Amino acid sequence: MKNKKLTLLFVFILLFTFIFSGCEYKDESQVISPSGENNLVVHFIDIGQGDSIFIQLPNGQTSLIDGGSKIYEDTLCDYLTKLGVKKIDYLVATHPHEDHIGGLPKVIKQFDIGKIYMPDKTSNTKIFEELLNEIKSKGLHITVGHGGDKIAEDDEFSYDIFAPNNDDYGEINNYSIVTKIQFKGVSFLFTGDAENISEKEMIDKNYDLKSDILKVGHHGGRTSSTKEFLEEVMPKYAVISAGKDNMYNHPHKETLDRLKAIGAQVYRTDESGTVIVTTDGSNIKISTVKSKSDSQDKVFIGNKNTKVYHSEDCGSLPKEENRVYFNTKEEAEKSGYKSHEKCIK
Ligand SMILES: [Zn+2]
Ligand SMILES: [Zn+2]
Repeated sequence: MKNKKLTLLFVFILLFTFIFSGCEYKDESQVISPSGENNLVVHFIDIGQGDSIFIQLPNGQTSLIDGGSKIYEDTLCDYLTKLGVKKIDYLVATHPHEDHIGGLPKVIKQFDIGKIYMPDKTSNTKIFEELLNEIKSKGLHITVGHGGDKIAEDDEFSYDIFAPNNDDYGEINNYSIVTKIQFKGVSFLFTGDAENISEKEMIDKNYDLKSDILKVGHHGGRTSSTKEFLEEVMPKYAVISAGKDNMYNHPHKETLDRLKAIGAQVYRTDESGTVIVTTDGSNIKISTVKSKSDSQDKVFIGNKNTKVYHSEDCGSLPKEENRVYFNTKEEAEKSGYKSHEKCIK
């Protein structure tokens, strides 16, 4: 009898110790909710050949880095609308190339915008003019971003600019605003189209480049992601934003080999669709979502009048009303269409 009482007492003590010791059971599915609340969620949106990255910061604010090409402006705006986005607190237009700013005029028209960051580099293209007009007509201002500037921070995260570090580059890609987000123990590096010159400057400036997730520079082009740069970043995961069968053959094999050599796991929007990374500051969860246009596979676009077909990222696509879509090159050729030499290989 006495023994039984003792056992009971022992069980009680054990139970009390367990409850009040702060020993917590963490269920990962509860820690990571898809809403973005208290988490950092980064969406590498599949918008063909180009970049567009939507970020839900852990404090509830949002950021959009680039807006892809104009032909995907609806894809981008629909994606943001479906997520319930009303306001973009920090809009970053990394550099004035069409595959990065093409969709931004519509985004600015459709959503509330906080601050807009751009490099100190203009362009005389129609799309750049359109972007400036849209910014002006909404009464917004441009904040010029340089290496060393800070976009945002609170107790848990910081959002910093690492490049550009110069004001005179030969190549527009090197003007790209490069940013890093550090959320507790997890970090992201977003490099736009920055190439080797900018990468070297960032190394020389001694920025803390080490990051868990790298948005690979310039769609995986061989003139970005040097061995030296990758060895500083040492990403566990590398995300490449590129269009299926794009005319530049991005990503290049050399880049993929270099990423492999440092042991990074590669995700590609041309293969997997939209790549979504969710983190609570220690765990990292990656999921991929194939976009609708992917499953329809309307990759080649023919011109009904000239009977020439193009890749979807070609610079000389026919007007919407003159277009006919093909799933494969063979299908286009069988229908009597000839390939556009500049964009079809
Ligand atoms: Zn680009
Ligand atoms: Zn570019």
